Amino acid sequence: MGDLTRLTAAELAAKVHSREVSAVEVAQAHLDRIAAVDGRVHAFLHVDAEGALAAARAVDEALDSGEAPASPLAGVPLALKDVFATRDMPTTCGSKILDGWVPPYDATVTRRLREAGVVILGKTNMDEFAMGSSTENSAYGPTRNPWDLDRIPGGSGGGSSAALAAFEAPLAIGTDTGGSIRQPGAVTGTVGAKPTYGGVSRYGLVAFSSSLDQGGPCGRTVLDTALLHEVIAGHDPLDSTSIDAPVPPVVAAAREGAAGDLTGVRVGVVREFAGEGYQPGVLAAFHAAVEQLRALGAEIVEVSCPHFTYALPAYYLIAPSECSSNLARFDAMRYGLRVGDDGSRSAEDVMALTREAGFGPEVKRRIMIGTYALSSGYYDAYYGQAQKVRTLISRDFAAAFERVDVLVSPTTPTTAFRIGERVDDPMAMYLSDLCTIPANLAGNAAMSVPCGLAEEDGLPVGLQIMAPAMRDHRMYRVAAAYEVARDAGAGRFADRAPELGA
Ligand code: GLN
Repeated sequence: MGDLTRLTAAELAAKVHSREVSAVEVAQAHLDRIAAVDGRVHAFLHVDAEGALAAARAVDEALDSGEAPASPLAGVPLALKDVFATRDMPTTCGSKILDGWVPPYDATVTRRLREAGVVILGKTNMDEFAMGSSTENSAYGPTRNPWDLDRIPGGSGGGSSAALAAFEAPLAIGTDTGGSIRQPGAVTGTVGAKPTYGGVSRYGLVAFSSSLDQGGPCGRTVLDTALLHEVIAGHDPLDSTSIDAPVPPVVAAAREGAAGDLTGVRVGVVREFAGEGYQPGVLAAFHAAVEQLRALGAEIVEVSCPHFTYALPAYYLIAPSECSSNLARFDAMRYGLRVGDDGSRSAEDVMALTREAGFGPEVKRRIMIGTYALSSGYYDAYYGQAQKVRTLISRDFAAAFERVDVLVSPTTPTTAFRIGERVDDPMAMYLSDLCTIPANLAGNAAMSVPCGLAEEDGLPVGLQIMAPAMRDHRMYRVAAAYEVARDAGAGRFADRAPELGA
């Protein structure tokens, strides 16, 4: 049978649907892999072996009784970021304040996965409330990068990206507020897409910054990511910002791209995302990828997006402002942790003690920055200014997309850094998202696809591809074409990760 954990989601689905293997065997193979390696990787906060096997059994029974597969991914296992509500598993958001909280309902993403017959293996580690770029802000300890266990797997969705790179799951779900799908994808050599804002429902996704948060698919190949995208995307009346329009045809685009012809596609290279602060090996891999796109027939154009340089400061006002409001709900009364409720204290005191004990330093820092930026007297100077910058960034995108079909840049300025290296320097940590944040502020689609290894450290580099809103399929086409060219001769990129052993 070979090692089932090495197969792509599309390959696994084909084997399960043709009854060559059972969904239970596939789930068990991944549960065994988790048991063998997750002690070292720590991608998962919670593994639900029983639930996964039950879901797999249900898929097998349906197929055995002659039913058509519930979706193209029926029977394929998945790792779910612990920021999505699951009624049968804890949902902690990597925070002590939600320790042990089991939601009374499923997020729309969770529900769609179940309805599609996708087998949820468990919940993945993340920076607390998705604030961070390394998964070191998790209250439950860091996740390690399978390419080098002393390095970070990116963040906030480092658990999901590490689960993919360690072959613990062929599919994962992340959320991307400022880069938390794409940056972890880049540093673990996996694929991650941030759909157009409103493309995937936020219902049951614990809110960090509501105008930026977007759930999205992660995989080891572009096609797998596209297949998952179509399972989770689409209008949801339970989310008022969900777009009521057909899902962009990302699977068809991935298949079209795999034919390897980009003739007539105009690719814009963002001039602002290069130079100082970028690791030479990252730039070299990026430029080689651009040349590969040119060889595939794409027209390469340099494009200037002058306001992108202000995206980071604008984001670090808008995101904390929204988080200071969203996280007010953790009041010690409704969910999870409660500290000091001994009958002698007021509700306010219990709330203060609980928030003091339950939130980590980065979350507190952001609540304070956000509260300050929104306070009367400072609102116009900080939050108002940041919103104006946001408009300018959207205009830069609009002008660029008049000239080109997609924009490209490195996903991150550097490869995976060492655990501990940036924990005491929030600014250095924030710079990890320099290239990813503009797409969140403008709400358009963007993804990261591995584009080789940096020569100085042998670690994965990500190519970011950005597309206009609701034109998500464009980036999948380009990514799929690039992927085929990249792997020609060399084999699948993810297979080049060092073996963790069993
Ligand atoms: N690293 C960024 C932050 O800390 C982005 C996080 C995210 O996308 N959730 O806010």
